Amino acid sequence: RPRPVTVTVTGAAGQIGYAIVFRAAAGDLLGPGMPVRLHLLELPQARRAAEGTALELQDGAFPLLDGVEVFEDADAAFDGASVGLLIGARPRSRGMERAELLEANAGIFSVQGRAVNRGAAEDFRAVVVGNPANTNAYIAASHAPDVPRERFTALTRLDHHRALAQLAAATGARVDEIEGVAVWGNHSASQYPDLTHATVGGRPALEVLAGTGRDLAWVDDTFIPRVARRGAEIIDVRGGSSVASAAHAALCHVHDWVLGTAAGTWTSMAVASDGSYGVPEGLVSSFPVVCRDGRAVVVPDLELDEFSRTRIDRSVRELEEERAAVQQMGLL
Ligand code: NDP
Repeated sequence: RPRPVTVTVTGAAGQIGYAIVFRAAAGDLLGPGMPVRLHLLELPQARRAAEGTALELQDGAFPLLDGVEVFEDADAAFDGASVGLLIGARPRSRGMERAELLEANAGIFSVQGRAVNRGAAEDFRAVVVGNPANTNAYIAASHAPDVPRERFTALTRLDHHRALAQLAAATGARVDEIEGVAVWGNHSASQYPDLTHATVGGRPALEVLAGTGRDLAWVDDTFIPRVARRGAEIIDVRGGSSVASAAHAALCHVHDWVLGTAAGTWTSMAVASDGSYGVPEGLVSSFPVVCRDGRAVVVPDLELDEFSRTRIDRSVRELEEERAAVQQMGLL
């Protein structure tokens, strides 16, 4: 039996946290051969709820679950951790300014970045789910100078899945017949879900869509906003934000990062830019990536037409503004 991997889950008693921990214990995070030890980090007011979740995890009698501990202290929670699922964040409340939201979250993610720097395992890697996820990942990385920046990523896999699902619905294809969808930029309404390199059953997606009477205007007016605003649609229909689909996407993100993307395919992750495609170095922006040997590498040399370029630039500009705002507040 391999040595168990310590996985720290922040906001573990929240909705997404509650949905993710049982599947992580069942082997959906690191595969069916890898035992896990769960560290649940919560705020004092949610500690009891996290303890209740720990009791339920015990009652799951998961063969791969080597133990569960609940923490309020970030240093203790990240001690020895190899994986961070950074879900807990300060939600935007009514009337809250964007600057206030950034500031509140910078407080949370700087503490966690420092805790990772102090005590996490050599191979530590994190996905940030809590919003504003890209900038929160940037802040955490900035406070963990001894950890390679590339180890702090943010979740755009749910946006990627939403794009796959919408394209499948429009073309009548199955999702496993689709390849080459990419999400660029920020996990926000400005994101750019890109179909220009996508194929459906091996044929260019835009050509297949044209065969169903859907042109570039459909992509711009219907597809992109549907994907980018799907979260709001879910809230409207379900009466609450997406939970299980977000948890599933975060599991897929880490699973593929560690175990590799399937041959010949790519996925979308927000990673620290290496300057590819003109995205300023260090910004945590979504790209199409291939994962091999535990590393996520941006797919190189894709041609970007003007339609794509404009939309990527717009979303990246928003990321730069978020970074500038946090910098101005002296929080980096
Ligand atoms: P959820 O579990 O529903 O959501 C958690 C975070 O995920 C939110 O920031 C949410 O952003 C974000 N998110 C990102 N993408 C998505 C998506 N596609 N759909 C839905 N959510 C998405 O929140 P809860 O309020 O239920 O739980 C949060 C928990 O975190 C609480 O238990 C709280 O106590 C805890 N917390 C822990 C901290 C810590 O451990 N230090 C710090 C702060 C909070 P959005 O708000 O924009 O929907």
